[in-house]
Amino acid sequence: MSRVYNFSAGPAVLPEEVLREAAEEMLDYKGTGMSVMEMSHRSKAFEEIITEAEQDLRGLMNIPDNYKVLFLQGGASQQFAMIPMNLMKTRSADYIITGQWAKKAAKEAEKYGKVNRIASSEDKTFSYIPDCSDLPVSEDADYVYICENNTIYGTKFKELPDTKGKTLVADVSSCFLSEPVDVTKYGIIYGGVQKNIGPAGVVIVIIREDLITEDVLPGTPTMLTYKTHADAKSLYNTPSAYGIYICGKVFKWIKAQGGLEAMKEKNEKKAKVLYDFLDQSRLFKGTVEKKDRSLMNVPFVTGDAQLDAKFVKEAKEAGLENLKGHRSVGGMRASIYNAMPYEGVEALVGFMKKFEEENQ
Ligand SMILES: *Cc1c(COP(=O)(O)O)cnc(C)c1O
Repeated sequence: MSRVYNFSAGPAVLPEEVLREAAEEMLDYKGTGMSVMEMSHRSKAFEEIITEAEQDLRGLMNIPDNYKVLFLQGGASQQFAMIPMNLMKTRSADYIITGQWAKKAAKEAEKYGKVNRIASSEDKTFSYIPDCSDLPVSEDADYVYICENNTIYGTKFKELPDTKGKTLVADVSSCFLSEPVDVTKYGIIYGGVQKNIGPAGVVIVIIREDLITEDVLPGTPTMLTYKTHADAKSLYNTPSAYGIYICGKVFKWIKAQGGLEAMKEKNEKKAKVLYDFLDQSRLFKGTVEKKDRSLMNVPFVTGDAQLDAKFVKEAKEAGLENLKGHRSVGGMRASIYNAMPYEGVEALVGFMKKFEEENQ
C-alpha cells in the first residue's frame, strides 16, 4: 500500500489514523457484530456515536448552550436555500461576494427575497477580501452572509465584517476546525464536512436557538426547516450515519492533536513554508493579496498555462496529487487542510524548487 500526498480541495485528505481505526472497526464495531454502515440510526451504538460527536465538537469549538449543532445532508449548497427559507423574515438579506460560493448562495437567496450585494471583490477576480469595517448594511436585512474561506480563490476573512448588529451567517466549509472561532459572533456557522472534517454527505450547521422557529417562508419543506432537525436531534430521518461516525473520529483526532489552538499553529507553520517559497520564487507566484491569504487553500501560477499543466502532471508522477487549480481559475491550487502533514507541504515545496530549476 502506498498513499500519496493528496492536495485535493474536496473531498479531501483525512487523517490516516482515523482511516485505520475505521478500517479496524469495519466488520465489527465495538462488539456489535456489524459495521456502523449496517446499523440502525436508532440503535444504542449509533446514539452514542452521534451524541459523542456533538459533545466533542462542542468542546473543540467552545459552542455555547444556546446554539444547536445539526448534522444534515444536502451539502453546503442546500444551505444556500435553507438559510433564506428559515431566516428571511422580512425577505431581505445582505451578501458579501468574495467568490463563486458566495455568488451562488446570493443567487439562490434571490429566489426568496431581496438580496443586497453590499461588498464584492469580483473586480479583481476575487483575489482579496473587501474592507468590511463600515459596510452599507441594509436596515431591513435579516442577516449578513459571508463565505469565510474561499476555497477556489484562496482568500480568508481575517476579521469578521461589522454587521452593525445584524445576524452573521457564515459558510466555513473549507476552514471548519482549522483554527479557534468565537461562535457567539455568528448566528449560523455551517459547512460541508468533505473539505476539512470527514466524508462527503454531511453538512454541519451550528445555529443560535432564537433563529430556529416555525416561522419560515410559506412552502418550506419539512426537511428544510431547521426546527425539524433541531427538535429531532438530527434524527428526524436517517442521517448520513457513517459520515457522522467518521466526523466523530476526526473530532477526537483534533482533540488529541491539542485542539483548535494547536491546529492553527500547525496550519500556520504549513502554510508559511509554501507562502515563503512562493514569495521568493522566480517561477511560481501566489495569486492572492498577502493579507487575505487562506491557511487552507493556496492557489499559484507560473503565468504559462502549458507549464502549469506540465507541473501538475509531473507532480502527480511524484506522488503529489490533485494540484490542478479550479476550472474557473486555472493554474494550481494546493489545499493543505488539517490532515495534510507538514511533510506533505515540504515535499511539495521541494518538488517546486526542483521544477523551477529544471524549467528556467
Ligand atoms: C465545496 C464548497 C461548497 C459546496 O459544497 P457542497 O457540499 O458540494 O454543496 C460550498 N461552499 C464552500 C466554501 C465550499 O468550499
